Amino acid sequence: MRFRVLVTDDIDPDGLALLTSDPRLQVDEVPTLPAAELLEQIDQYDAIVGRSATRISGELLRRATRLRVVGRAGVGVDNVDMATATSLGIAVINAPAGNTIAVAELLFGSLLGLMRHLVRAHSSLMEGRWDRAQLLGTELKGRTLGIVGVGRIGSEVAARALAFGMDVVGYDPYVGDERFRALRIRRAPSLDALLPDVDILTVHTPLTPETTGMIGRRELARLSPTAIVCNLARGGIVDEAALVHALDNGIVRGACVDVFTTEPLKGEHAFGRLQNVLLTPHIGASTAEAQRNVAVDVCVAVRDALVHGELTRSLNVATVSGAEWRELQPALLVAQRAAAIARAMLLDQGIRLIQRIRLRVSPDLAGAQSALLAAACAGVLENVVEEGRLNLINARAIAEARGIELSTAELADGTSGPTVDVSLGGGVREIAVSGAAPAGGSPRITRIGAFHVDVTPRQTLVILTNNDVPGVIGRVGTALGDAHVNIAEYHQARLAQGGEALAAISVDGHVPDTIRERLLGLQDIRTAAIVRFGVSDAA
Ligand code: NAD
Repeated sequence: MRFRVLVTDDIDPDGLALLTSDPRLQVDEVPTLPAAELLEQIDQYDAIVGRSATRISGELLRRATRLRVVGRAGVGVDNVDMATATSLGIAVINAPAGNTIAVAELLFGSLLGLMRHLVRAHSSLMEGRWDRAQLLGTELKGRTLGIVGVGRIGSEVAARALAFGMDVVGYDPYVGDERFRALRIRRAPSLDALLPDVDILTVHTPLTPETTGMIGRRELARLSPTAIVCNLARGGIVDEAALVHALDNGIVRGACVDVFTTEPLKGEHAFGRLQNVLLTPHIGASTAEAQRNVAVDVCVAVRDALVHGELTRSLNVATVSGAEWRELQPALLVAQRAAAIARAMLLDQGIRLIQRIRLRVSPDLAGAQSALLAAACAGVLENVVEEGRLNLINARAIAEARGIELSTAELADGTSGPTVDVSLGGGVREIAVSGAAPAGGSPRITRIGAFHVDVTPRQTLVILTNNDVPGVIGRVGTALGDAHVNIAEYHQARLAQGGEALAAISVDGHVPDTIRERLLGLQDIRTAAIVRFGVSDAA
């Protein structure tokens, strides 16, 4: 049997050739198929490959009775209804790595453009002027580059910066020392420590709740007034209003910006009147090579998925489907959320670098250890790695690549019902969180560290430790109530009367960081951690 593949949107010919030359595949290339016709024809295909132009809606997926794979030549899968694809067991495959070099190279293009006034130099000549006096530039050599986010792109930026003779310092609390040593760059212990040190600051993190606005007014003010700020990652990591204000008021010297909070950036915009910026319209990945790389990457992965059932590149969890998948859901959720809770507790103690993940499961879950460990890895990595990449198939590999030690074991028999225990370690600290995952019932968190609790992890879990004295629950309840936070469950646990107590408070919706400060200000509260669970769980 030949698999039928529909290629919509323009895909680089090298990628396409991989599909068309394979005798096991029959490829129809229709780059401009109207949506209605696509709906009509989709049930004839085993795979669809495209870029971002074709919307892969829930309706389209439901009509696609034969479809097994959706391939996206690029990173973002915003155009694919992921939840529907996953529920239908359709693998969604993207190509996240193909544009790394393109972004790293653009950074230096932009930086040199700004530092050597290339845009002004060019336009002055085009306007018939020979204006050398206005065009005195500065050099990269000897300057200090600060990289926030030493992942794929950050690492390539580091290598190129060293070749320019720059001094490179990186800040990434989720990457181990080993990686910094391998890249031959210095490690900054904190963002605050990095800022005053650098001539050029560049961010290469994903956009997450933690990184949104991470370079704001306060951070810009800590930079030298001669510093240059670059954002070629995602709009909003550098606060736009704060950046414009800093550029306007001599707080920083210049900026290179490729990504914006609202795109496309059109007409009148705040950067428009500034001379000391170099703006590009989100072209970080726009090179022939990157387009070729992503096309080849995705076409290889789509071919292997169809022909060999090889789904390691799948973004969703298409391998687990039907009844087996449904049964495992509560346990996967417990593993992921227990890991996220443990990570938040360690973070609360100032530990960001997770070095060990140990999963223990009750004997009835022994067969699913691998998937559960992946879910725990996803819980540790959510909001740390680029969104859209993390899933049960790749979470383990990402964790291992980051140097996290993984292990699994069985819990001694005697547990009542399916139980998952996730223990995270960083330095000498270790914290274990357990949960119960009754089949068909709702998952519960049953232990946090030494404390026995019983709460359902909803959108947000507030975890407090406090002195076991009267009145604390009332004060916490009032503080949350005043902030319009609706408590769904409040579980108070203690080890011994009058000692340390722990409260696990499950709440609906979002709890802002300001509330953490308020809770920490209450009498008898020792620590406060707020765990926001990922909106789209890898599970
Ligand atoms: P990656 O996942 O390989 O690396 C991201 C790094 O950020 C990780 O090492 C992670 O540990 C680190 N990080 C996460 N939270 C952090 C925090 N709070 N503080 C410091 N470091 C933190 O991702 P990547 O492929 O290198 O992509 C980096 C960014 O570039 C992403 O935002 C991506 O969307 C963007 N990007 C932009 C373009 C473009 O066209 N301009 C193209 C491709 C990628």
